[in-house]
Amino acid sequence: MTFNGRTLLVTQSVAILTVAKDFDFFYFVQQWPGSYCDSRRGCCYPKTGKPAEDFSIHGLWPNYVDGSYPSNCDSSNPFDDSKVSNLESVLQEDWPTLACPSGDGLKFWRHEWEKHGTCAESIFDERGYFEAALSLKKKANLLHALENAGIRPADGKFHTMGQIKDAITKAVGYEPFIECNVDSSGYHQLYQVYQCVDASASNFIKCPVYPHGRPCGTEVEFPSFSSASSRDEL
Ligand code: 5GP
Ligand code: 5GP
Repeated sequence: MTFNGRTLLVTQSVAILTVAKDFDFFYFVQQWPGSYCDSRRGCCYPKTGKPAEDFSIHGLWPNYVDGSYPSNCDSSNPFDDSKVSNLESVLQEDWPTLACPSGDGLKFWRHEWEKHGTCAESIFDERGYFEAALSLKKKANLLHALENAGIRPADGKFHTMGQIKDAITKAVGYEPFIECNVDSSGYHQLYQVYQCVDASASNFIKCPVYPHGRPCGTEVEFPSFSSASSRDEL
């Protein structure tokens, strides 16, 4: 058999088409610290002090369009704090840890890089992962979007899911997924906002699929963080 240029081209294209993609898009997930703290589990402020009353980053998570996702993709590329050392003060502001006991953030960032970031090594290295998330946070000012619609952090005040989703959709252009948790009195509250991001981690897109099975109920609270307490204060 002669192996001409055309055969080679066809063979190569088939090879490319049959290589599984490492992921299709990202969820960019931000958490509301007031809701993280106002739950039965409670929270601990980072060693660097109480974070500002603003949404903060939980993670940037590669996902497949069928709703499944890869995780812990490369144990040979563990988190190396020296690679983010000059980003640490920005990370402490925009990606603080609220888990107990109080930490400096490194454990949280390590977890997010190793579980999720390593699954998108085709587009960024460790430093690039954190930079991409920080830049997405700047692009979507969720607190501002909600405030523009008259939704401000306050205890005991309820909003419909429609009002919350509309406020964010208007500001960002695409409908987010809202995840709730439950406060100490059993009321649903806005806990996390998921936005979809293209496979280059730069632009928000319409979500190809939403996470399943975490319903919020129709009326949700957007609790204050300035009046919240950490476990150490209770
Ligand atoms: P939970 O079960 O608390 O909702 O999620 C636990 C963890 O699983 C999340 O923090 C995240 O690391 C991962 N996870 C949950 N749902 C999704 C999802 O839809 N996509 C991705 N990529 N990760 C998820
Ligand atoms: P994921 O749910 O992304 O798989 O895991 C989150 C992990 O990071 C959990 O082990 C959780 O205890 C830890 N963690 C540390 N700080 C925070 C925080 O501020 N928010 C959330 N959601 N998880 C945190």
